[in-house]
Amino acid sequence: MTERPSPLADDHTVGAAPGRLQGGVVVVGAGIVGLATAYALARQGVRVTVVDKERSVAAHQTGHNSGVVHSGVYYTPGSLKASFAARGARTMVEFAEQHGIAHEVCGKLIVASSQNQLAALRELERRAGANGVPAVWLDPDQAAEYEPHVACVAALRIESTAVVDYPAVCQVLARLVEQRGGRVLLGREVRRIKVAGRQVEVDTTGETITADHLVNCAGLHSDVIAMMAGLDPDVRILPFRGEYYDVRGPAQNLVRGLIYPVPDPALPFLGVHLTRGIDGSVHAGPNAVLALAREGYRWRDVVPSDVRAALTWPGSWGLARRYWRVGASEVARSASRRMFVASVRRLVPELSPHDVVRAGSGVRAQAVRRSGDLVDDFHIVEADRQLHVLNAPSPAATAALEIGEELARTVISRT
Ligand SMILES: Cc1cc2nc3c(=O)[nH]c(=O)nc-3n(C[C@H](O)[C@H](O)[C@H](O)COP(=O)(O)OP(=O)(O)OC[C@H]3O[C@@H](n4cnc5c(N)ncnc54)[C@H](O)[C@@H]3O)c2cc1C
Repeated sequence: MTERPSPLADDHTVGAAPGRLQGGVVVVGAGIVGLATAYALARQGVRVTVVDKERSVAAHQTGHNSGVVHSGVYYTPGSLKASFAARGARTMVEFAEQHGIAHEVCGKLIVASSQNQLAALRELERRAGANGVPAVWLDPDQAAEYEPHVACVAALRIESTAVVDYPAVCQVLARLVEQRGGRVLLGREVRRIKVAGRQVEVDTTGETITADHLVNCAGLHSDVIAMMAGLDPDVRILPFRGEYYDVRGPAQNLVRGLIYPVPDPALPFLGVHLTRGIDGSVHAGPNAVLALAREGYRWRDVVPSDVRAALTWPGSWGLARRYWRVGASEVARSASRRMFVASVRRLVPELSPHDVVRAGSGVRAQAVRRSGDLVDDFHIVEADRQLHVLNAPSPAATAALEIGEELARTVISRT
């Protein structure tokens, strides 16, 4: 097994041959995956340019998530998610410590609300063991010691789960890239990509960047960027909006840390949960409704070309046939505060609709195959002088430093 460099150590050179990457690497996307990749490359002495169409880092998924550092409980043992999350959770917390970024290792409860969820909770306990994540089975009285207001028939306690300020992580990563001679160019949309001989030309709304290699970490637009670069990817990104409510007033005291339901094993989402963030505020969410724009943060955000792209992908129809019932109930829950609160009351029955107000939302980039299957694991596609991250859903923020190391290693070894 090759020795892995730590994403936390300062500069190192492990088998890197930056000489072969004299023309540098261009990374599309200044979300956490793109910046972590750029940082890993810059630490190897590679000249790296990050471009993002927005004027700030972490403008999309990374800046609109639950802020949780997942421990690696849920993921199929042996999957990329499982191996990256377990390691990534440790390195993310250490990175936050090292750079003075707000974080807290608060632990979490995964709560079985009824007897028929016990088998699924046992399966999570088994997966946690297989993934090397300590998890303790609790009866209701034991669970109440952690979360006195929770209702359950049993729960799993995961001590290592944390919360962190992901946008602050991105700001630090961008600074570290620049300190190593890299560039982070914001407000530059990638419009055209040409692979010409030994080089990649990336036209942005500002300048044309020429590099030896392209890394596509464009999240909600990653399939579009792949097609721009001449690929015919086997997946398309469908945007799933996750809406949040803020818990207000004394009801905030009903939640000490992180309270999660047992997720539906058929879906790649963790279910509406309660989260106490790093600033102490308590959030409920996110649900999962199909958005009508890749950056559709509100119902009224509709981009006809995004809707057309979704409708012309055969996988969307397969998905609709399979999940129309779940989809319809998610739409109803999105429209009704009462229904939304009913979901969190399964976890904490004392919460009432009067305790919550609508808050922001985030949009997940979910890759869907032609067959309609949702891609569960991270999905990375290699092509000549290119690397495309075509599915980086949760826990990709948690695992970003490890994913970045892996992508950097792949770029360097292929060039
Ligand atoms: C509601 C929600 C809750 C979540 N909760 C968690 C959680 O608690 N823990 C966790 O680990 N993960 C969580 N996730 C998942 C996590 O946020 C993502 O996996 C992660 O942020 C993906 O990062 P990224 O860099 O791939 O994508 P993004 O952060 O979306 O970055 C992609 C970037 O590419 C840029 N871009 C796109 N197209 C172009 C173009 N043409 N030109 C230039 N730039 C372009 C965009 O502007 C964007 O900044 C959650 C996600 C959501 C939506």
